[in-house]
Amino acid sequence: MAVSTPLLALQGVSKHFHGGGIFKQGRRVQANKEISLSLADGECLGLVGESGSGKSTLGRIILGIEKPESGAVFFQGVNLYGPDKAAVRAVRRDLQVVFQDCFSSVNPRLTAGESIAEPLRNFACPGFRDVLLAVGELLELVGLTPGDAAKYPHQFSGGQLQRVCIARAISLRPKLIVLDEAVSSLDVLVQAQILDLLSDLRAERGMSYVFISHDLAAVAHLSDRLAVMYAGEIVERLDNMENLNCLTHPVSRALLAAILPAQPMNRDTR
Ligand code: ADP
Repeated sequence: MAVSTPLLALQGVSKHFHGGGIFKQGRRVQANKEISLSLADGECLGLVGESGSGKSTLGRIILGIEKPESGAVFFQGVNLYGPDKAAVRAVRRDLQVVFQDCFSSVNPRLTAGESIAEPLRNFACPGFRDVLLAVGELLELVGLTPGDAAKYPHQFSGGQLQRVCIARAISLRPKLIVLDEAVSSLDVLVQAQILDLLSDLRAERGMSYVFISHDLAAVAHLSDRLAVMYAGEIVERLDNMENLNCLTHPVSRALLAAILPAQPMNRDTR
């Protein structure tokens, strides 16, 4: 039987930083250590861990923008840090990102429509009328209106602007979106709406997500599988989200405790 290539495969990825000082003599920080993981088409992998555990560094490595010092990252079978730059360029449009801070993710001088149109113009080169139509459709898809295309970032709420960023990220119909703390700065109600939107878009378009968050509740809402990070390493994995209560690593238990129901009656006492 033929074995299909995973959408994303990380093999022994490591990355360290120097903590500062003009001659980079500062403390050595191992941001990612020997990380291997894979993701199939249409899957959502939750990457959870406390602040500083290495999640965002791994996100940037997956996006092809932070070169690991060892290991390899294959996206659709292409080594993102390999010598074949043309192959990397060809798969790059299938890889998009939504960051936490939507206000600094968009150019404040561009309207929402212009921001969403940018990747379409850069990669797909359609005519003016087609771009206009596509932007209107994308805005509707994320729960806004075509009329919102004329607004500037400061005219949106945080939740609305995050919807604009999502519209921009899905404009090229990517295969994988890295969601880096994408709902973390939103209030709980708006968070739930954006998580539902991401879930609907995934069902509709068959995209995959790597969902990075310190919030296990948000990750559990969207993910099929889970990897828990601590001090640059994956310390626990879960392949079935229904078994969330079976997590055993102390870091996982701490993240789990943070999302336990307020009622002591319902509390898991293990
Ligand atoms: P997380 O996303 O889980 O909060 P990060 O990946 O941002 O963690 O950071 C992991 C570790 O690497 C932290 O100790 C952080 O300070 C360090 N780090 C990340 N990026 C840099 C950088 N550009 N220069 C120096 N240290 C960095």
